[in-house]
Amino acid sequence: MTYDIGDHVIVRTVSGFIVSGRTEVWDDEIELSVVKKIMWSETEVYEYVLFVPCHVLIKSSTLMDSRNKLGIPQKFVGEHIVIVKPQYITRLGRQRADGNNCANCGDFCNYATEGFTCYSCRTNPYRQKMRPQK
Ligand SMILES: [Zn+2]
Repeated sequence: MTYDIGDHVIVRTVSGFIVSGRTEVWDDEIELSVVKKIMWSETEVYEYVLFVPCHVLIKSSTLMDSRNKLGIPQKFVGEHIVIVKPQYITRLGRQRADGNNCANCGDFCNYATEGFTCYSCRTNPYRQKMRPQK
């Protein structure tokens, strides 16, 4: 099972820590949204950057700072994120919002049609050569 930017996924926690998606005993099931997919070249498996809203406690989350080297959208600077391997995701949550990923940068935009290019990519020449993240 692979997920896309904009998907809502369910993780299970024990005492505030995300545990294996297949675990039989857990405290909470929490729905988080995927903001970025990262492929480490040595594994060729996607890991998922999940946005952790301020009302959710995930002890392994980290604060996104402006030195962001992972290409996470800048709007998440100052917010908490957590990076998980796919086996830590239990299942897909509710259906993603209606929309599509930008064909250039892979950012998810609500109500966008398939194959569109987002506003940032259309206006910023330095984004023109980015490769799709899918
Ligand atoms: Zn874009």
